[in-house]
This record gives sequence, C-alpha cells and structure tokens, in this order.
Amino acid sequence: MKILIIDDEPFVLKVLHRQLSSLTDAEVVPCDSARAALAELAADAAQIFLIFCDLQMPEMDGIEFVRQLVAIRYDKGLVLISGEDNRTLQTAERLALAHKLQFLGAIQKPAAREQLQQMLERAASICAPAPPRAAHKKYGTEDLRQAIAAGHLENYYQPKVELATGHVVGVETLVRWRHPDDGLIFPDQFISLAEEHGLIDDLSRVVLTAALTQTRHWLDAGLDLKVAVNASMDNFNDVEFPDFIARTAEKVGVPLTNLILEITESRLMKDPLSALDIIIRLRLKRIKLSIDDFGTGHSSLTQLHDLPFDELKVDRSFVHGAWQNDAIRAIFEASLGMARQLGMKTVAEGPEDREDWDFLKKSGCDLAQGYFIAKPMPGSEMLGWISAWEARRQELV
Ligand code: C2E
Ligand code: CA
Ligand code: CA
Repeated sequence: MKILIIDDEPFVLKVLHRQLSSLTDAEVVPCDSARAALAELAADAAQIFLIFCDLQMPEMDGIEFVRQLVAIRYDKGLVLISGEDNRTLQTAERLALAHKLQFLGAIQKPAAREQLQQMLERAASICAPAPPRAAHKKYGTEDLRQAIAAGHLENYYQPKVELATGHVVGVETLVRWRHPDDGLIFPDQFISLAEEHGLIDDLSRVVLTAALTQTRHWLDAGLDLKVAVNASMDNFNDVEFPDFIARTAEKVGVPLTNLILEITESRLMKDPLSALDIIIRLRLKRIKLSIDDFGTGHSSLTQLHDLPFDELKVDRSFVHGAWQNDAIRAIFEASLGMARQLGMKTVAEGPEDREDWDFLKKSGCDLAQGYFIAKPMPGSEMLGWISAWEARRQELV
C-alpha cells in the first residue's frame, strides 16, 4: 500500500516523508508536483490509499488537483495541507466533500506528528476495504440490466421553487433502484456502472419515459410542472436520442417545452464537438438544456458560450453555507453573474437550512432546489407535498 505526499518545497517534502515513514509500514511516495502525483495514480491507483496534498503549489494548485482526483474517480483518503490561507483551504474542503472523496481533514504546516498519526488512523478506519454493507454493495452489470428490464428503476422527484414567490415551477427526476433484497439503492451506486457497460441509453429511456408519463398525470391534475431529467454525456453519442424523446413526449402528450435535460459540466466538456450536433438537435426541438453541478468541473467557461444552455445549476458545495463563507459566496455570486450575462436562468442546488434560504432570496438567484424545501419523493406524493408547502411558502416569502 502506498501514501502519496505532494509539496513543491523539497524541504517540506523531506520532513513529511521522514515523519510519515516512521509512523506507518506503507510506502511513502514523495511527489514534487500535482502532475507527478497524477502520474503515480495513473500507474498504480489500486495501491494508493491516502494522499497528503499541499494547497499552494505553482502550476497545478491543490484545488485543481482535487478536481483531477474527482475526474479520475479517486475514492480513497485525502488530507489537505495548507500554509496560512484559510480561504483556499475552505474551498478545497468543500470541493472534496461535495465529491465523496474520503476527505479526512486538513492540517497546517508544519505538520505535527500527532496530527499525522490521527490522519493515518482515520485512513485505516475509513479507507481500508470494509466488508460490503448492504447499502454499498457492488452491483454487477447483469443485475442492473435485469433491473432495468424488470422495471425495478423508480423515479423520485425533487421540487424546484422560485425564490421570489416560493411557487413550485418544476421538479428534477432522480432515479432509484428498488432492489428486491437490498431496498432502495441510490444512483451513485449504479449510474457509472450503466455508463461503463453500455446500459445508460436503456436506463435513460426508462427514466425519461416514466418522467414524461408522470408529468402528464400532473398536468391532468392541474399541475403544470417543468420536468428535468439528468442526461449522461453518453446519451449524446446516441443519434436516436432526440427522436426518441420527441416520439415519447408526443405519445404521452407532454409538450417538449416542459422538458429540461441536465448535463454535467465535467462530462460535457470532454468531447464537446461530437455531442454538439445532438445537443443542437435537442435545442431545435425546443427541449431546454441545463448545465449541472456548475463550479465543480474542469474549467469550461470558454466553452459555455458555444453551447446553447438555458439554465445553470450552481453545485451545492457553493450554496450551502455560502452566507457565512466569503470564498464560497464569491464563487456562487460569480456563477450567477456569468449566467445572467449569458441569459441563463439560475438554480441554486442544495439549500439545507433557513440561513441558506434567506441568503438565496437576497442573492437574485431564480430557483432553489434542496433539502430545506424538500427531499426527493415518489411522484405520487407531490400533490400532497405541494399543499403542505403552500403554508410554509407564505411564511418564507
Ligand atoms: P445531481 O444531478 O446533482 O442531483 C442532485 C443530488 O443532490 C441528488 O442526489 C439529490 O438527492 C441531492 N440533493 C438535493 N438536495 C440536496 C441538499 O439539500 N443537500 C444534499 N446534501 N443533497 C441534496 P441523488 O438522487 O443521490 O443523485 C445523485 C446523482 O446521480 C445526481 O446528481 C445525478 O448526477 C445522478 N443521476 C440521478 N438520476 C439520474 C439519471 O436518471 N440519469 C443519469 N445519467 N444520472 C442520474
Ligand atoms: Ca441534476
Ligand atoms: Ca447537480
């Protein structure tokens, strides 16, 4: 097993190397840049269970490095080391937490031996291969294929409300897998499996069909909701995708203007040109496009103006707690400003408490979607929830 330590200062690197080597049997690998660490990860990811990373580095800094870790789906331990700059540290922490990296904590330079010991203990308890819990079992491709075919995928819906009025204007569709033995399984446990094994087209078609059908039921009940569905970048390799959507919407009787496709920034930008064709065709059909998880992907700002987005969803790591954190608030406000200049609607993801809500109301953001308003729920619960929300809404706006 290996531990990577990354710092551009040779002296710091040497001291850290000596300290850690005296505390652990694992091989401690010093890297003098983030790039060198990424090369180590590319060569030997399976062996690496813990990374100590300096935040201030020339060339690629700690924040960019955390983004790269997200991109390669590193899911073991991470410890951030910082000099004096607390803001950068807070931003990097948020980023790490938002992405389910095993963020073990931050330590100040120079690192004390006890702190290093503590981080090693956390790494041992968190990152060591644990016996699979029911909720975090690894599922096989065949299981998922059968689940899709057997209709075991279920859509949940989370309301999106207008901040100015509190009115519910739409929902986001979030898929779950109702497993006969294991109960409700969340998408982070099967979406990448579907993407990697060519099941995402089938999955997305099932989700879309159910979402449009549900939207029709709501329309029939007098509720005109825009329905957002998450699209994977791989859906944009499927040339049939736009026609499939149009056909299904026509069949169930929902105008395509009621549909929003949410696309994740980081995935979107890997190969923007090949997808552009399909994206433009979706646009021509008047389907709305939303850029998801904004702020967490690779720097894609240059490409934003090439793609016709209607909506920008600021990732929750730049929303929750923004009211009390200058650095996070700055990123949030910059994202809003940019969206506005490009004529896009803005959605704040993940407000969790009253402070978040009050901050968002003042921020000029258009919509909010988060646990403070409601957790995702089955479609059948939406009407009941909306009547309960009405009472809360009066008090909140
Ligand atoms: P996402 O598109 O960013 O969806 C929002 C996630 O944040 C949802 O997690 C939602 O339950 C959660 N969330 C909402 N409000 C809050 C809040 O206030 N606090 C916190 N901590 N979390 C909040 P969920 O349902 O587990 O979905 C995870 C991801 O799976 C989604 O992230 C989306 O990227 C992906 N996903 C879900 N359904 C589909 C699908 O049908 N197709 C594809 N390709 N991806 C999907
Ligand atoms: Ca989404
Ligand atoms: Ca999101």
